[in-house]
Amino acid sequence: MEVWSAPYAIFGPEGVVPEGALLTDGRRILALGRRDALLKEHPNARERRFSTYLGPDAANAHTHLDLGLGPVFRGPFMEFVFKAVFPRNEARGLGLAKEAAATAGQKILGDIVAKDDGTLEWWLLEAPFTGVAYLEVLGIMPPEAEREYLEKLRATVRRLKKLERPGGARLGLSPHAPYSLTPSLMRGAVALAREEGLPLQIHAAESPEELAYFQDRTGAIAEFHQRKGLPRDLHPTGLTSIEYLAELGVLEARPLLIHGVQVSEADVRTIADHGARLVSCPRSNLNLKAGLPPYALYRKHRVPLALGTDSALSGGSLDVWDEVRLLLGRGLPAAEVLAWAVLGSREALGVPLPELQPGEPLDAVVGW
Ligand SMILES: [Zn+2]
Repeated sequence: MEVWSAPYAIFGPEGVVPEGALLTDGRRILALGRRDALLKEHPNARERRFSTYLGPDAANAHTHLDLGLGPVFRGPFMEFVFKAVFPRNEARGLGLAKEAAATAGQKILGDIVAKDDGTLEWWLLEAPFTGVAYLEVLGIMPPEAEREYLEKLRATVRRLKKLERPGGARLGLSPHAPYSLTPSLMRGAVALAREEGLPLQIHAAESPEELAYFQDRTGAIAEFHQRKGLPRDLHPTGLTSIEYLAELGVLEARPLLIHGVQVSEADVRTIADHGARLVSCPRSNLNLKAGLPPYALYRKHRVPLALGTDSALSGGSLDVWDEVRLLLGRGLPAAEVLAWAVLGSREALGVPLPELQPGEPLDAVVGW
């Protein structure tokens, strides 16, 4: 008999149990409780102590498996796009997704899929994951092309939605980011998601370049749009990304927002007031020189937080425990960060929360 224990444990939806423990015969969980009580009741059991956490594995609420694996890029956001993402655009797809999937640290993922090339069929029918596979919506195009794009998207969504299985992954939609879709395509994609009952994930307020674009049309995103010959008044100015999404009515759909680094306190309040959630990918934010989100503001306004790795190219490993390690190293409160990784990330993806019971196999828990 062994008693496994850690300073922080999670057994179920109620959250972190300080000095939680379990009793095991090496195969099954026999009892759950406080460390002191279990050690007292079972004086002959050997204790196995984990330095930080004991409980169900984390979930990875945001990644891009189809970008594959490779060296981590460190530099400003648009340089990442030009030097790491664009060169992969051709190869991006099912082959790279499978390669990356083999290194995924978690079994519950929120994954953005850029192409309708069979990756979503793999996700919904075969992949060893649950969670949400979000089809990406991206593009700035003339109104007529946009209407066609949206019609095709509706047909794709309806075809793929039929492949969902009970207990398996769900299909979602991910309008890429406020600056990379026209307002009408953003609205159209969000309306489609609401009509078809699809969860939404949107990158927002990630880089200083994005904020500069929405504030006064300066910075690398504005320059890129200018080089492509896009009109300067494609989007409104004098706003933050969150203000723009709120004005557009997008936040009414309560999307899962990704990153939320370049935000004011008013933005955080807006996110909270709409009942939207945030996935934070701190390693990616640091590698792409965005800084970290203002976690104190999100905690103050009680925005539900989740954690994700982002792609391997900006985050590094596809293991959420590496995000947790970073945040604990920065002095964030361990009980909250662990709850974000384990419970918040499941809630963000609409995956049922774990509820450990005596009798369950020992592999229902990880020690860390
Ligand atoms: Zn991302």
